[in-house]
Amino acid sequence: MTETARTVQQTARPHGFPTPAHFAVTEHDLPTPAPGTALLENLYWSVDPYHREMMDDVPGGFDLNAPLEGRSIGRVIDSRTPAYREGDLVLHRHGWRTHATVTPAESRKLPHFDGVPLSTHLSLLGGTGLTAYVGLTRIARLQPSDDLFVTGAAGGVGTATARFARLLGAGRLVGSAGSPAKVAHLLGSVGYDAAFDYHDGPAAELLAAAAPDGVDLVIDNVGGEQLAAAIASLREFGRIVRIGTISQYNTPEAPAPRIHYPDIVEKSLRMEGFLVSNYREVQEELYEFAVPHLQSGALTADETVVDGFDNLVPAFLGMLRGENTGKIIIRDPAAAR
Ligand code: NAP
Repeated sequence: MTETARTVQQTARPHGFPTPAHFAVTEHDLPTPAPGTALLENLYWSVDPYHREMMDDVPGGFDLNAPLEGRSIGRVIDSRTPAYREGDLVLHRHGWRTHATVTPAESRKLPHFDGVPLSTHLSLLGGTGLTAYVGLTRIARLQPSDDLFVTGAAGGVGTATARFARLLGAGRLVGSAGSPAKVAHLLGSVGYDAAFDYHDGPAAELLAAAAPDGVDLVIDNVGGEQLAAAIASLREFGRIVRIGTISQYNTPEAPAPRIHYPDIVEKSLRMEGFLVSNYREVQEELYEFAVPHLQSGALTADETVVDGFDNLVPAFLGMLRGENTGKIIIRDPAAAR
């Protein structure tokens, strides 16, 4: 067993896009778990858009020069709690580090599902899938045959949204993404009926061409110009689920979208946002819904898996630039053992 542990720390606040210079890796002795805790070697890490928000000087944000938080899957290598045995696989929030000491109260032993890869607990079965599932079933209250427009359609939440929506009986699926290759993936693999690259022109024109009869429901992961276009495309009694605003996380001074507010009244629209952290109780229902479909092959997890803890920061920065398709996940070589 290795004797040292490494943690990624944020060393400076970015203005605009972060770079590797905003981070440092520190090395220290492997901790000895205190009574009531377990020591884990982390095998999979999630890096997420909300980490970019936490890099700013905001309440609840990352402290500088301190270990960071993030979802991670670890294997127990030393346990001082009856709740965990060596070899157990545990989901927790002490990410961005090779090893973590956790209590059972702040972590959870992962269930094993035959034929379902462990990484899926960070994608379709994790916070990403839960966000998509809650957005569709709790916030949008998806109706059979609802026509959808999904922004950020090729990312983790966007791909999960379309795959779940299809299984839940949605109508036409229209998505936007940031490259021709992503558009091809949406149409060829994920099950979208129409898709466009949002760099190809004004979002309102691209969406009008992709959804000439409008849509009933918008699942918005990006905000900005695409949100304004989405509101214009909604039919009467349409709903907008606000999931995220990634188009603005790195460009805080970008002009606000030109939303046509009378549309919201005249078309009787409803817009609602949510935080998945307030819907943890839906996790078991997500398992019941998604696991049989994963096992039958009716549902596929879209993931970009990057190997090696040393590539965690580059993977995070790459995700902010759109280099991922599906959920971005970092994997330690020990995950294969
Ligand atoms: P993701 O979509 O897998 O990755 C981020 C994607 O954002 C990139 O791949 C990139 O794809 C896109 N992007 C980057 N800059 C953009 C811009 N200026 N305009 C449009 N798209 C841009 O990440 P995710 O984890 O699934 O998260 C998606 C959204 O959901 C984020 O806004 C996140 O904050 C939000 N979220 C919210 C909750 C919640 O509880 N409400 C939970 C999870 C995630 P392109 O190549 O297509 O540009």
